[in-house]
Amino acid sequence: MSTFKTRFTETFGIQHPIMQGGMQWAAKAELVAAVANAGALGTLSALTQPTPEDLAREIQRCRDLTDRPFAVNLTLLPTLKPVPYSEYCAAIIEGGVGIVETAGSNPQEHIDVLRAHGVRVIHKCTSVRHALKAQTLGVDAVSIDGFECAGHPGEDDVPGLVLIPAAAQRLSVPLIASGGFADARGLVAALALGADAISMGTRFLCTREAPVHDHVKATLVANDERSTDLILRSLRNTARVARNVISQEVRAMEARGAKFEELAHLVSGQRGRQVYATGDADFGVWSAGLVQGLIDDIPTCQALVQRIVDQARLLITQRLQGLLVE
Ligand code: NAD
Repeated sequence: MSTFKTRFTETFGIQHPIMQGGMQWAAKAELVAAVANAGALGTLSALTQPTPEDLAREIQRCRDLTDRPFAVNLTLLPTLKPVPYSEYCAAIIEGGVGIVETAGSNPQEHIDVLRAHGVRVIHKCTSVRHALKAQTLGVDAVSIDGFECAGHPGEDDVPGLVLIPAAAQRLSVPLIASGGFADARGLVAALALGADAISMGTRFLCTREAPVHDHVKATLVANDERSTDLILRSLRNTARVARNVISQEVRAMEARGAKFEELAHLVSGQRGRQVYATGDADFGVWSAGLVQGLIDDIPTCQALVQRIVDQARLLITQRLQGLLVE
């Protein structure tokens, strides 16, 4: 099968220029291994595992399901309970994982430890200045996350159409474009904007292998590009989530000046975990991007990756080439 050779595929030894984002509560071994077996870069979510020992077991479980490389995402953002980050890093290193995606705040202390053990680091961030900072810290690649993304888009609100080329023209390390990607059109656009790969979260959440309730997947298919809310904006910890009863309540409380302590029980990740487990899409907040408007099926990871690569090739060789005139 033909594919694309980019600095991402070369640097990380991955067949296709496609990565799966490390989604809280969903990026578990069965999804990550399916993505890896489809020739893309799968990413386990470290904090989905309640303890570093659980992460070590999940890494082993993933290894039992694939012999391809995969990554672990380590998100560095405020949490309700303190996270023993060094112990999670130790589990990653001892588990022999070769690629880590850091995200959130400055990853310096973790980068130094991980790189000293030969782990390659991708830092995901939402602004060019943070991308440049990560590059000076020695990361192997940057994932730049546009305002379209699910989860935490930062506070600058710059969508990918501007953010990706703005990052590409300043960075020298490989660049992964995230936020708003779901199909071949996005891949071709990202490559044209200067990226070396795309990273997709919400799209991979809506695959057969994603370990979330079928009703969540049906909700993603039914939703459109207007079906998200930005919450926690008043605390400068903005999160883009699927719009539902709880996200609307949180927004109303924020508009009235509510403090985080009043919101915590509503935005707690544990409630979002229940959404994925039970399929009750209104039980808590759960991350989803604008890209819901581009999702209308529930394929296997293999079928999804294959079709993106095949259609990207056709898009370039037929549609785009066909538009050229001498
Ligand atoms: P959690 O239950 O500890 O917190 C729920 C939400 O409240 C999170 O968005 C968190 O950042 C925010 N928060 C916690 N304490 C806060 C404070 N003092 N001030 C402002 N905001 C605060 O988190 P969780 O849902 O178990 O998630 C664990 C980690 O993964 C967090 O860092 C979270 O931000 C991140 N996350 C990532 C994704 C993703 O798709 N990448 C999705 C959900 C959460």
